[in-house]
Amino acid sequence: MTALRRSWIDSANSPDTDFPLNNLPYGVFSTEDSAPRCGVAIGDQIVDVKGLEEAGILTSGEPPVFSKPSWNAFMELGPEAWNGFRGALMALLAEKTGLKERVKPYLVPMAEARMHMPFEVSEYTDFYAGKNHAVNVGTMFRGPENALPPNWLHIPIGYNGRASSVVVSGTDVRRPWGQLKAPDMEAPVFAPCKRFDLELEMGAIVGVPSSGPITVQEADDMIFGYVLLNDWSARDIQAWEYQPLGPFQAKATATTISPWIVTKAALEPFRTSTPEREKELLPYLQEPTPMLYDITLEVTLAPDGKEASTIARTNYSQMYYSAAQQLAHHTTSGCPMRVGDLLGSGTISGPTKAERGSLLELSWGGKEPLTLESGETRNFLEDGDTLTLAGAAKGDGVRVGFGVCAGKVLPALDDPFKR
Ligand code: MN
Repeated sequence: MTALRRSWIDSANSPDTDFPLNNLPYGVFSTEDSAPRCGVAIGDQIVDVKGLEEAGILTSGEPPVFSKPSWNAFMELGPEAWNGFRGALMALLAEKTGLKERVKPYLVPMAEARMHMPFEVSEYTDFYAGKNHAVNVGTMFRGPENALPPNWLHIPIGYNGRASSVVVSGTDVRRPWGQLKAPDMEAPVFAPCKRFDLELEMGAIVGVPSSGPITVQEADDMIFGYVLLNDWSARDIQAWEYQPLGPFQAKATATTISPWIVTKAALEPFRTSTPEREKELLPYLQEPTPMLYDITLEVTLAPDGKEASTIARTNYSQMYYSAAQQLAHHTTSGCPMRVGDLLGSGTISGPTKAERGSLLELSWGGKEPLTLESGETRNFLEDGDTLTLAGAAKGDGVRVGFGVCAGKVLPALDDPFKR
């Protein structure tokens, strides 16, 4: 089992921190007196790597890549440079370093920092690759006999989403208006969404570009890291618009990601296989080695000004398809992938009710309201609710965590067309 690597930064040695030396996730932060810049989380501190690069303590490459507040230029250097940088950074922050005094001036307390988008999202694709979720939703919409579409066990199903509405944790999300029609309505109306929901997902970030079909192994090698991802979903808009081309406006309001990119290197000890296949996959989709990760996940909901309730707990290992399989499938058409592409895993739900990653499933389409710690009930999200995702891979006295992915629901505008 993975053990703690000790750092000279005390807070990084706590068994409760998401950010021990084992982790070193990448983000972009600003403070009252510094503009957004690249940083690395360690314990309750952020290492200003732009500062370290400018001081010549740490080099990323030539030309320097940390002049812009995003990790895209660093990703473009490729896996060898990623590993070299991580190794050098780990040596600087390890307990037995000779450079402690030189690094200290570049530490910023996390409590004083504001987080920004860690990378520029080139394009965004979202999948539907959790089997429990697909069975639950399919059962609600089509009945238990037709829950899984006939292609589901053969293809990681996805749709091309919008990079423009991906936002960082802490960004408020406004309830959308849209065209919707419930089954009992005679005609569609344009109205504020009444069934606003979350989707608990992981996001995989592509760090190496491709120009033609790639294997699952090549796809795994192209992934830079992972974030938590909440695919906000307007269920009533979705139900009316989704056939025959899939979700559109229901998913375009916002997608929230956690601010720290946890690298594939940090997650390496936590690899696990996808569940047993129910139908043999075509050879191009078969996983040569374990490509999922054992990451425990949790969703909490806090009504405005009230105590938070944990509404779901599950694990990333519940996915039927790994991000590498999804990425390989994505390229079969010859579709080029770019550095900074983001792939949403699809909603992650476990087999039991307490493990469901959306309110649609938790309240069974609004038929079984959830009771919160505050005594309130929920079918779907209410205005003022703050939704928070958290996750960590756990070793022996050490956790490689993601921080949080949070967003608050603001009320719909009174009139979206008022100028
Ligand atoms: Mn989704």
